Order: sequence, then structure tokens, then C-alpha cells
Amino acid sequence: MFDSLSERLGSIFERLRGRGALEEKDVAEALREVRVALLEADVALPVAKDFIARVKERAIGQEVLRSVAPGQQVVKIVHDALVETLGGAGQDAALDLAMAPPAPILMVGLQGSGKTTTTAKLALRLEKREKKRVLMASLDVRRPAAQEQLRILGEQAGVKTLPVVAGQTPLDIARRALEAARLSGFDVVLLDTAGRLSIDEQLMAEVADIHALARPIETLLVVDALTGQDAVNTAEKFKARLPVTGVILTRMDGDARGGAALSMRAVTGAPVKFVGVGEKLDALDAFDAKRMAGRILG
Ligand code: GDP
Repeated sequence: MFDSLSERLGSIFERLRGRGALEEKDVAEALREVRVALLEADVALPVAKDFIARVKERAIGQEVLRSVAPGQQVVKIVHDALVETLGGAGQDAALDLAMAPPAPILMVGLQGSGKTTTTAKLALRLEKREKKRVLMASLDVRRPAAQEQLRILGEQAGVKTLPVVAGQTPLDIARRALEAARLSGFDVVLLDTAGRLSIDEQLMAEVADIHALARPIETLLVVDALTGQDAVNTAEKFKARLPVTGVILTRMDGDARGGAALSMRAVTGAPVKFVGVGEKLDALDAFDAKRMAGRILG
């Protein structure tokens, strides 16, 4: 992940560090190269522009240029700006579960984004790390195998799933899941909604209805990081219709060029909360802007 972006930035900064003194034009030239590297990594243009402008403003001053190790300073400025772009070094990954249980969490996203797998990963994480009792329910009545897929994942993860009742609508299932969770003392209910190959009005209306019924404390959008700019466009569209409280980027173990991770927060305003880093059920990491920036800079 990020390999080519890391390599590109690495060689730009190596040259910068190698010089004892720096002039304004050296920094400007390096930043031009950084901008190209970001765009080639599929970072959204306005995000790349804003990033470069911020770095430039801080880096091209006498204080930096006349310092003992100017190249090093510029790299530090880039690092800090990367952390900011990624959402800051705060506690964004923490889920807000402060409510009388059961806390509903709505999982939304396109088909194939990794939504169902991520639902099971998150359930396992909440059970293992936060000692929550979690109930999962699939609201996907369109794809016959979807409910069965979640049940099998639940078995693998050792997490309970709501028994399937044939003929129910997504709203019926959501209602039944919330009621079952309340009666059986679950802390969290994860509702896995149906995905589609692309965003359409029907999908959005269905998800909005489920949201209105379940009133989730968290609405988590799952997007595939490998789709780059498309992942960001998808997130923008969901955000326009639903109060998305967080994004989960899947397939960050693949050769995603990094653009989605870098642009997501800035473009959508929604924090990235977790990243999927493999097919196994424990392959879900809390998103950490500082660590991610460190990985990008190598
Ligand atoms: P859905 O249609 O959105 O529910 O997608 P699925 O949960 O069925 O996932 C589709 C495929 O992506 C499955 O083979 C998953 O194992 C795989 N997958 C999901 N998340 C990740 C991830 O973070 N990394 C990798 N490598 N594969 C993933």
C-alpha cells in the first residue's frame, strides 16, 4: 500500500535533505514534484492543491531556510500537513456508543465494497476489545446469499446473528433485530444493509428509511480503497443523503495508491475510523492519521 507514493516522496525528500542550504526555489521545486506525486496517487485535485499551499506557507520562511537542517524541517512540515489532511491526530477511530443499550450501528456501502465482511470484523473487534455483546443482522433481502453469508461469518467470528425469517422486508428485520437485542441484553446491534453495484435512488431511499427507523448512533460507510477517486465520490453521495459518522476503507492491504485515504476526510468531512487490511476477520485496524502519515513518508 502506498508503495509508489512513498517511493516518490522518499526520493524527493532525500534530495532535499542532502543539501546543506536551501533556497526558496529548491523548496518550490520539490513541492511541485510532491504535487505531481499526490495527483498520480489519485489524490483529489483540490486536496492536493490545498496541501501544497499549506506546506509552502510554512516552509518558505527564513526560519526554515536558515535553520541547521532545512531539508529535515521541510519533511517535518510535510508530515504534519499529511496528518492534518488525514483528519488530525485525534481519537476519531473511537465509536460513540454512549447510549442506553442496545446501540444500533448502521453499515452502508456499495456491493462488493467489503461491507458484510467488515460488519463481522467490527463485531468481533467490539466483542474482543471492548467486551461488548454484539448482535448482527443482515437487511439484504435482495441477494439471496447475503443473509447466509453474514450467518457463516458470525459463526466464524463467534458472534451472534439474528435468525433469518423468510419474507421479511429490511425494515421488518431491523425492527426485529432491535427488539431481540433489547430483550436479550445485547450492547450493540450491527445492521448490515443491502448494497448495489452503483448508487441509485432506490438504494438511497431504502437506506434512509432504515436509518429513520433504527436511529443509529453510528452510520458507517464502507468503501473500497482500491477504487481511489471513485471511493471518494461514493462517500460524497452517501454523505449527501445520510448523516454518515465514519468511513471504513477496505483493501488497504492491496496496492491502493493512497488517494482515497488522503482525500476522504477533506472531501467528505467524514472521519476515516477503520481500515480493512486483509480478508481475515481480525484484519481491521483503527485508523491512525499519524501512523498513516508515517507510512506514506516511509
Ligand atoms: P460486500 O458485497 O460489500 O458485502 O462485500 P464482501 O464483504 O462480500 O467482500 C467482498 C470480498 O472482499 C470478500 O472476498 C472479502 O473477503 C474481501 N475483503 C473485504 N475487506 C477486505 C480487506 O480489507 N482486504 C482484502 N484483501 N479483502 C477484503
